[in-house]
Amino acid sequence: QQAVQSAEAQVRSDDRNHVFHSWSAQALIDPLPVAGGAGSTFWDYSGKKYLDFSSQLVNLNLGHQHPRLVEAIKRQADRLATIQPAFANDVRGELARLLAERAPGSLNKVFFTNGGADANEHAVRMARHHTGRRKILAAYRSYHGGTTTAMSLTGEPRRWANDPGDASVVHFFGPYPYRSAFHASSAAEETQRALEHLESVIQLEGPGTIAGVILETVVGTNGVLIPPPGYLKGVREICDRYNLVYIADEVMVGFGRIGEWFAVDAFDVVPDLLTFAKGVNSGYVPLGGVLISDAIAETFANRAYPGGLTYSGHPLACAVGVETMHVFEDEQIVQRVRDLGERVVRPELERWQREHPSVGEIRGRGLFWAVELVKDQSSREPLVPFNASGEAAAPMNAVAAACKAEGLWPFTHFNRVHVAPPLVISEEELRRGLDIIDRALVQADALVTG
Ligand code: PLP
Repeated sequence: QQAVQSAEAQVRSDDRNHVFHSWSAQALIDPLPVAGGAGSTFWDYSGKKYLDFSSQLVNLNLGHQHPRLVEAIKRQADRLATIQPAFANDVRGELARLLAERAPGSLNKVFFTNGGADANEHAVRMARHHTGRRKILAAYRSYHGGTTTAMSLTGEPRRWANDPGDASVVHFFGPYPYRSAFHASSAAEETQRALEHLESVIQLEGPGTIAGVILETVVGTNGVLIPPPGYLKGVREICDRYNLVYIADEVMVGFGRIGEWFAVDAFDVVPDLLTFAKGVNSGYVPLGGVLISDAIAETFANRAYPGGLTYSGHPLACAVGVETMHVFEDEQIVQRVRDLGERVVRPELERWQREHPSVGEIRGRGLFWAVELVKDQSSREPLVPFNASGEAAAPMNAVAAACKAEGLWPFTHFNRVHVAPPLVISEEELRRGLDIIDRALVQADALVTG
């Protein structure tokens, strides 16, 4: 017991003294020392277990310590731990082929990166060189990564400190029926008006100045916004009409998260570039990439692509990616996600909406859901203000704390609780986790004024 306590104390003091954390005021955080994890659970040094309903950063699709993924790393480490990208490598090529076989349309080539932000950086660079134009249109409600151009593409407040960053990014409003920027009263009207808005922005910016449009297929951190029927198809048509590159950011929603291999499959559209990371290998070794259409690949057939990375297509990362693809097939991950989403999650969240006065809207698909909390169901005033922090965020912190006290690690953002567990979660764990959130929502109900 004493040895465990001193191990924890060492982890804590090394972290506090020397680790500089993302997105944080360093003196105001107290990171939980994690001792281990298995499947959908991780635990601290006191042995307290947490059911992980945020899949770490929505990357741990196959859970902690999946034996086949761990074995794939060991096997590859014994064979060849690293090789630079200019060589042809067996697992790198195999993963690229498996991805191309799964991806829709002519997305037949893969440029591998270290993660999601650089995948978006490179997708934008490809779009610019392919079209010879510079501007990129991106949605306000979006997150595309923490590097300079990816931060500029990002519409949400994390962009602000980086502005103007890449000044040739222009933001527009995507569809969000529950809080429509277009005063729409139905999903069909939202689709139509959001498309008219996008087309107006293109006309006003000058189609001849725009390289492309980037969109999260389902907006992730900024709301689990499922595009209403016809929206993405309309975006595809507009891009074709004006000769713009359509970039789908599937860093968070690819690889089974919404019950499809690639999220675009649910909406029957084929982008010109598709970026991925996270779920491609559950983050066991950092990996991301861009799937590239034949037409864009052709641009760089006889002209050098001006970009590269020392670790592009790292064999350890690709070996876990290849095994991930096989596990998806063997464990029928996509099918089980659809089943759990519709049979277990949807009915439970619909019940919350009926029974908790603080639940304004629930929405989602597969194992990716948002529960939007409000002070008043009729005015839809959010439980906490947009971008709330400190005292203003206290009600959401209370909901999160109630979840953690009962052994559930939640994903919260602004006035929302997301449900995003590992895709291998058992039905029993899923139901237990949902019950914990159900009880935690009482904290929010107490603040309802309407
Ligand atoms: N794009 C989306 C939609 C994301 O959710 C994220 C990360 O959360 C990124 C890009 C950035 O990925 P990374 O943190 O691997 O750079």
